[in-house]
Amino acid sequence: MELLFVEPVFKEAIWGGSKLRDVFGYEIPSETTGECWAISGHANGMGKISGGRFDGKTLGELWREEPELFGGYPGDQVPLLIKIIDAQKDLSIQVHPDDAYANVHENGSLGKTECWYVLDCEPGTEIVIGHHAKDKAEVEEMIRNHRWTDFIRKVPLKKGDFFQINPGCVHAIKGGTLILETQQSSDITYRVYDYDRLSNGKPRQLHVEQSIDVIEAPFVPSDTEIVKEELPGADHTHLVTCQFYSVDKYDIHGVFTKEFAKYYTNVSIIDGEGIVEGIPVKKGVHFIIPAGYGNCRFEGNLSMICSNPEA
Ligand code: ZN
Repeated sequence: MELLFVEPVFKEAIWGGSKLRDVFGYEIPSETTGECWAISGHANGMGKISGGRFDGKTLGELWREEPELFGGYPGDQVPLLIKIIDAQKDLSIQVHPDDAYANVHENGSLGKTECWYVLDCEPGTEIVIGHHAKDKAEVEEMIRNHRWTDFIRKVPLKKGDFFQINPGCVHAIKGGTLILETQQSSDITYRVYDYDRLSNGKPRQLHVEQSIDVIEAPFVPSDTEIVKEELPGADHTHLVTCQFYSVDKYDIHGVFTKEFAKYYTNVSIIDGEGIVEGIPVKKGVHFIIPAGYGNCRFEGNLSMICSNPEA
């Protein structure tokens, strides 16, 4: 059994920048590159395995052909998508549907629950999480009357912050933010407001009706409880467990060995360098530890974000 190294796919965006190259060393398509789909089995940006016996296979093919690698996780699609997002400018104010709404209105797609680990941000940066409307009627009134300042709830941001974004939660990443996102593998975003920006001379499409449908009111902050522990060779931070995934951060100093038990594990090296199972790795490398791999040995000074699907 071997680790599955995955090649990222890059996406340009009007709000993107060049940090995916400047910070992570990736070859990016332009100076406005917004997203690195780091571990993706989604048709809109399919990742490929790099090296080893599955070299060149897409993650989607592997999911169908070698289900034992994923511990027989149920479903016909890779459940999680890992991204790094470089927001040079503000992203649109947006919201995602849940599985039930997406299944009916988006052709059987998964809904989107996502979470963000803040890799870096400029001083004074804020992030949009939630809104100030007291009920659904006020959500609709504020949106239809463009009362954005009253509507949007902003919170200050710093490096190392973590946010869980459930379906129905209004959110936006603001310019100057670099995050690692763990999400359900879905590409369904409803744009509530896009700052009246133009893309190729035209405003980007908004989804006002769908947004009003799915926004939860009143907003209730999600109560994620972050738990830290010291392990031999690593500081472990448990970031979240929800219905779809669990996410953990490990800061490794020296030798750290762990068996990742649940289904399969996505691993993103977000800082430093070292060796995993005899293979040199550094910041920006992403791989999957297949189900049943057993103990995985890490060595070096490196930080990584790991995620497992829940079912
Ligand atoms: Zn989102």
